[in-house]
Amino acid sequence: MTVEAPVEHVMPRRDADSEPFWAAVERHSLEVPQCRDCKQLRWFPSRLCPGCWSDAADWKPLDGSGTVYSWSTVRRAPSASFRDEVPYIIGLVDLAPNVRMFTRILCDRPEQVEVGAAVKVEFQNREGGLVLPCFRVVGTEVAA
Ligand SMILES: [Zn+2]
Repeated sequence: MTVEAPVEHVMPRRDADSEPFWAAVERHSLEVPQCRDCKQLRWFPSRLCPGCWSDAADWKPLDGSGTVYSWSTVRRAPSASFRDEVPYIIGLVDLAPNVRMFTRILCDRPEQVEVGAAVKVEFQNREGGLVLPCFRVVGTEVAA
């Protein structure tokens, strides 16, 4: 019989590519890399632009508005540390061209979450000083 060790909350990995993102999140700002040469935004943070392979980039603040691309409800806690949080909603939100972020989706009523629903960033202060960008449903009008 195999007994698996419980998986606890995994803290985000901060490396040279993602550090500016996490530093901005701690200031309650949502920022993504923008190529200096072709101006393409990108997500995830990466050293090279996927559009033109330039390594020159600046961090651009977004307004935090987006739409739900896809979502799912987590009903079974993946570990004991999530037991008090289920059910919760995870999903992908589109924030800008080439910027689709995997995130927690917040809502007052689960039926508010649907593909195309408008969302707005909401920064949550979590244990250990972690600040997470989550997205709250602010409208349910589906884009045509
Ligand atoms: Zn580029």
